Amino acid sequence: MNNSRDSVSLKRYWLSGMMPPESITVWEHAAKYVNLSKKISSFSGYYNPELNPMLNVIMHLLGPNSAVERTVLAKGTQCGGTLIVMLLATFVANNCPDPVMIVVSDEDERDEYYHKLTEFLDCCIPLRPKLKSLKYLNKTGVVQIPGSQIYISTATVARSLRGKHIKYLICSETSNWIKNCQGQGDPFAIALSRLDTYDGRKKIYAESTPTDPASNIDRELRKCDHQLTMYWACPHCGYYQSPDFFQDMKWSESKDESGESQPDTDSAYLVCQNPVCEIKRIEESDKPKMLSDFKLGPIPWLEEEKKKRLLSENSRKRIHRPGLESEDLLNFSDLDMLSGSVGVWYNPLQSPLGFKSWKVILKKFADSERYHEEKQPFWNNDLGRSYDGTVSEIKLSDLTENLENYSRKPLPVGCHMLTAGVDVNGSWLSVEVTGWGRDKESWTVDYVDLPYDPAGPVAWDKLDEYLLQRFEHCSGQKLRISSVAIDSGFMTQQVASYVRKHLGSGRNIFAVKGSPTVGRPIIDKRPREYKKEINLTFYYVGTNTAKDTLSKWFRVKDPGPCYCHFGSFLPARYFKELASERLESEKKATGSKRKWVKIPGVRNEALDCRVYSLAALEYLLQIKDLSKICELGEKKYSESGRANTKAA
Ligand SMILES: [Zn+2]
Repeated sequence: MNNSRDSVSLKRYWLSGMMPPESITVWEHAAKYVNLSKKISSFSGYYNPELNPMLNVIMHLLGPNSAVERTVLAKGTQCGGTLIVMLLATFVANNCPDPVMIVVSDEDERDEYYHKLTEFLDCCIPLRPKLKSLKYLNKTGVVQIPGSQIYISTATVARSLRGKHIKYLICSETSNWIKNCQGQGDPFAIALSRLDTYDGRKKIYAESTPTDPASNIDRELRKCDHQLTMYWACPHCGYYQSPDFFQDMKWSESKDESGESQPDTDSAYLVCQNPVCEIKRIEESDKPKMLSDFKLGPIPWLEEEKKKRLLSENSRKRIHRPGLESEDLLNFSDLDMLSGSVGVWYNPLQSPLGFKSWKVILKKFADSERYHEEKQPFWNNDLGRSYDGTVSEIKLSDLTENLENYSRKPLPVGCHMLTAGVDVNGSWLSVEVTGWGRDKESWTVDYVDLPYDPAGPVAWDKLDEYLLQRFEHCSGQKLRISSVAIDSGFMTQQVASYVRKHLGSGRNIFAVKGSPTVGRPIIDKRPREYKKEINLTFYYVGTNTAKDTLSKWFRVKDPGPCYCHFGSFLPARYFKELASERLESEKKATGSKRKWVKIPGVRNEALDCRVYSLAALEYLLQIKDLSKICELGEKKYSESGRANTKAA
């Protein structure tokens, strides 16, 4: 862009007594002129561009030679984000007499930025002689350097965001900004509006650690024309990849004093994503090598989000990680081809040695598994991603994504045992019948409401009629329901008389009562008694444990162990009811306890029924062996001769 420098700005250079800007990028400028003191950086000396190459990517885009107008950085903490802000401000102050505005969240941060900035300016060798006349006007927050002005504004004062014409706008830690600035709306939008004069030659840089999906850095990142992250090369096979904490990080575990398994934080390593890599294991000490050989490519979690949005609710397609060929990726030198806006995600797993370590990330992960309130800080600070803690951990999309075309008649081939869960409501009974296969793979076979008042006998006769039906399996066999758990927390008397009637029938019909006690097993093995006049034995169901288990199973993506199949015949409300609760944490002196809480205004019978049906399975597993039952079922299926003619 330097070729198109107009006469007006040349005049400004002349008036300011400065030389026209050197054609140099921000990081080249830092390496050439900025000699960091021990006071401000643990890496003192001239800025070393080889140390943290991801910073160079961003600084390259911010330089006057790049046609990119807007750069957005989402990052974790301690990756060098503030360093970019300082080096950019130093670059502008020394190299081009353009007004810069840095916007920070509040006055405290403004003071901190001022001090840091003056220290950085002092490290810029050519600027030093000019700094004697450096003036800091506390009220307006302007750092005045001959030929240049750096305004430090706060997002809390609308007036400070308006009025001045600036070329460089730097927005720091935008997720911490207030949402509405003095009744005039989003401070980010107000700050942007002042750049209009420089249309076409302006530079905007926004950076933040994300908070939740509504945070402005997430919004801006998604809006960008290009989204990039680092793909580094495996030191063994050279395959370029963007590491994912949940899929690629591995570690060994050891037991703590209380006998609980804890990650051994020193043992963290990554597994290469290349299926044919021979060594696979990537150590943290391999980082310098990997950081010297990288490309840039799409942000994997954003790509997954896009794909999910594209898939229709009924689609059965599964989502795979983007399989990228290295020619699809950009080289550092390709950055010059970009224009418009670029969003960058700095993956904290790729922080250089001396910045955030894998050990720290794993430690934070272990804490977040123990204490629910640590979850969001872990996602934000250590994964550099927003945390969606407000929605249920049972996601409607997880349930409906893989709807299948199986029907209840005949039962699908893998399903060899049936259980039922019954929820007793004010004027009706809800029932789920679940089919079980090997390793607790399951199929929802039916979900019905019996619209009869449980206070009277009709409801219970209808229930019995329903539970006595046989379900035909595709082998031709007819399966009956092997076990039924009925909620007895409501209308206990009526439940008692129904359950008593079937004692010794061999149908394993029993009463349960939900218990929110954290850590209680899905079904408590010890039977309990209601008080004498009710005369009923019941079992406690650990509802929190059951819901934790189900939420985990619902997220399993591939058929097999614990996978939950849902048929397209199930009513839409079934899925809404399954996703009707969310995890919340309750603070206690000893830490916090997580518990499942109903989302106001949403019915939850289907989730209760599913929990009871799971309890019925666990009850049955005390006396039966599921894998033997499946083996027998499979044998009958192959003997029936239908295996080759009928697809499940
Ligand atoms: Zn490899």
